[in-house]
Amino acid sequence: MAAEEQIEFRVYNSMTHEKEIFKPKVPGKVSMYVCGVTAYDFSHLGHARAAVSFDILFRYLKHLGYEVTYVRNFTDVDDKIIKRANETGEDPLMLSKRFCNEYDVDMSGLQCERPSTEPCVSDHIEKIIEMIQQIIKNGYAYEVDGDVFYSVTEFPSYGMLSGQRLDHNRAGERVAVDTRKRHPADFALWKKAKPDEPRWPSPWGDGRPGWHIECSAMSACYLTHNFDIHGGGIDLIFPHHENEIAQSWAANKESNVSYWMHNGHVTNNNEKMSKSLGNFFTIRQITERYHPLALRHFLITAHYRSPLNYSISQLETSSDAIYYIFQTLQDCKDALSPLLQVDTERSENLPQINEAAKDCIKKLSVEFQTKMSDDLQTPVILNGALLEALKYVNSSLKLLKKKMQKRAQLQLVQSLLETEKEVRKVLDVLGLLSSQSYDEVLQQLKGKALTRADLEEVDVLHLIEERTQARKDKDFPKSDKIRTDLAAKGIALMDVGNETIWRPCIPS
Ligand SMILES: [Zn+2]
Repeated sequence: MAAEEQIEFRVYNSMTHEKEIFKPKVPGKVSMYVCGVTAYDFSHLGHARAAVSFDILFRYLKHLGYEVTYVRNFTDVDDKIIKRANETGEDPLMLSKRFCNEYDVDMSGLQCERPSTEPCVSDHIEKIIEMIQQIIKNGYAYEVDGDVFYSVTEFPSYGMLSGQRLDHNRAGERVAVDTRKRHPADFALWKKAKPDEPRWPSPWGDGRPGWHIECSAMSACYLTHNFDIHGGGIDLIFPHHENEIAQSWAANKESNVSYWMHNGHVTNNNEKMSKSLGNFFTIRQITERYHPLALRHFLITAHYRSPLNYSISQLETSSDAIYYIFQTLQDCKDALSPLLQVDTERSENLPQINEAAKDCIKKLSVEFQTKMSDDLQTPVILNGALLEALKYVNSSLKLLKKKMQKRAQLQLVQSLLETEKEVRKVLDVLGLLSSQSYDEVLQQLKGKALTRADLEEVDVLHLIEERTQARKDKDFPKSDKIRTDLAAKGIALMDVGNETIWRPCIPS
């Protein structure tokens, strides 16, 4: 579809506050740096949202044919890590390593592809020291008694990303000003070692890097001073990204990021969900009760820049949507596999797919291309032509069960195959397919539904038997009650022929 391939990809640039046509610095290649987590505890929904948002960008860029270098760091040297390690008596780097591994487990459950590189601060101290030396040499930082501070007043464009003005940023109004700083907003590039802290030798004595410098140093190390996309959560705009810009520019005047991209907050009762407010959920807490794919679906039901309010009912809806998607794909596989095996002449003389399938595929393909290319509008994709295509698959599967002429059957099979292919393509870019089989995912979704209902499958099967007996006894109030009670817990009973089966549902 040549016309659709010409649609330009537009992304919202936090620096210009505009959607801009995406043009990489090197044709065909994209370099992208995203700020990762400070690893000292299990990651929460806010981390999941950032990871999924940029995973979708990563996948879509690859779908557009770009070769993408995606760097996402781990902060393994930080005040919070040291504090936690002191509480638990663990070595700070070991504690951090442990939570980096837990983060990887969460990310793989959420179907986030691994970035090309995941550098840690502790492996890049040399690069960080080199950059600080360069910044001092260029006149933008100063050393005081083993600490090195960045001098914000030396950088005329300080505040260019966040719009924060220096006079609005007087640290002294809230906390005691470090009197050794030339300006209250000056920030640490290097911190002198305190007792019981991880430390590395440096030209300024033993110490460790400040937080902001790591991303300037590691992005330059892997992507050079000039790269395409820098991403992270919206709360990183100030001071983290503002300080990164100041540092990178001070080290190298050529440094430039083309697009700054930020994902919105996760909120709880419309208040920002954060560790400091204590109103957060870890990814693990959610995935104990909901399938990680349901969580991923939930995370992309809002546009990545909008706030996303945590909602059990939306998680139930997302869980139901994932079940519907996987059940449809499984049904399609079950129905088509035997037909494809017996038909040895399929490759020759295939009929054209029917008009309904043609319409579905075209609509889905156009909507996917236009909406994803308009700053990744995932909510539109989830609710629009994708659902229509799945409906088409389900209605065609019903039709396929009826008696029909061989040629008509062949056409329907071909129509189903091609619609399913388009559906899978879209789901793949959204990261909503799994490396596991459809059936495995369906079983896992049923398992989570049972957990939420606080039931074992054997309990449900027993209740099904009881209901069957009640119906035989014509005790309909009892049989209805069993069904209604289970539906209220998110377990739907369905009578298929002489059999009763169950599947998860949104609790009634
Ligand atoms: Zn960063």
